[in-house]
Amino acid sequence: MKQDFYVVLGVQRDASETDIKKAYRKLAMECHPDRNNGDKAAEEKFKLVTEAYEVLRDPDKRAAYDRYGIAGLRGQGAAQGFTSMHFDLSEALMVFMRDFGLAGAAGFDTLFGSGERTRRDRRRGHDIKVGLKLTLAEVASGSTKTVRIKSLDSCPECAGTGAKPGTAPVQCGTCGGTGEVRRQAQSLFGQFLTVSPCPTCGGEGTLVHDPCSRCGGDGRVKAEKTIQIDVPAGVADHHYLTLRGQGVPGPRNGPRGDLIAVLDIKEDARFERHGDDLVYDLGITFAQAALGAEVQVPTPYGQATVRIEPGTQTGVAYRLRAKGLPRLGEGGHGDLHVRVHVWTPNKLTAEQKKLLEKLRDVEDTPPLKEEGGRFWDTIRKVLGGGHE
Ligand SMILES: [Zn+2]
Ligand SMILES: [Zn+2]
Repeated sequence: MKQDFYVVLGVQRDASETDIKKAYRKLAMECHPDRNNGDKAAEEKFKLVTEAYEVLRDPDKRAAYDRYGIAGLRGQGAAQGFTSMHFDLSEALMVFMRDFGLAGAAGFDTLFGSGERTRRDRRRGHDIKVGLKLTLAEVASGSTKTVRIKSLDSCPECAGTGAKPGTAPVQCGTCGGTGEVRRQAQSLFGQFLTVSPCPTCGGEGTLVHDPCSRCGGDGRVKAEKTIQIDVPAGVADHHYLTLRGQGVPGPRNGPRGDLIAVLDIKEDARFERHGDDLVYDLGITFAQAALGAEVQVPTPYGQATVRIEPGTQTGVAYRLRAKGLPRLGEGGHGDLHVRVHVWTPNKLTAEQKKLLEKLRDVEDTPPLKEEGGRFWDTIRKVLGGGHE
């Protein structure tokens, strides 16, 4: 066995489906080709982790793999399109998109840009990149953004053909309209066929003899348009949305490129974001900490109430379940952690001073470190150990 799929995903052999999914998502995000500038090692890793995931996520394939290793997958694979040890990149990207629940959703199909496409049409128009600014509230609820873009559109004069009205593009004589030239070639191993784009028509199969005067034969004119982009809830700052076929059209009715929206999420000063979880720092008074209180805190969904227990120490965190951000592609929400800080007043009125002095005369002293073992352990934990 060349690669152990459990090792590839970094999970135990008895890992649950959820663990496997989690491990895959983390790794796939890290080594996704669109985030690694075409780094080949990252691409290979992306393919491998995806392949491992495809096997281990499926109980039948996993059972076969556990028993017989890779060999156990051959028979099954043929029926399910899993025929060889190696995925190609486009297959791996498909799995990735499907796993994030984005395939076919609302017109876009990948989160991380267009990826690498094999055999791209030579006449395909360019992609358009736009930046989309989002607030945290929009991330929480999902949103529809309207963007205005400068692009090109099919020439109305010649209907995009590039030929002067009343004339039509003619079939290319060199390739007979196929756009390809085929050549027999001889190699050490015998004859083989090479196919390349026709040099006369550039692969289009047709030629324009009388170009349209409006577009100069290109078939496109300048245009501005307004596009609506649905942004799912739970997106993060590095995400891209790709809207297939919403980019620039290719010349002479060639296929359109894509529109790629790069998300730019404005920080919300009230919250610290940790993935789907949010942290809110709440200041309370000494009296609230000692006596307990009900306090209002902001959430991305409006105000919520936190019940402060009597005797609450600085550093304690209350967890408001499902008040964090939506989990992209998984359903459910992260949590909102309310981290408590006891605030010491720096200006006192005469009355407050008098009351505090009265309190001082009757209050207990904090426990000594030796005798208050558990108490100090808790304090150390909440102050040093983050917000859990
Ligand atoms: Zn035209
Ligand atoms: Zn040709």
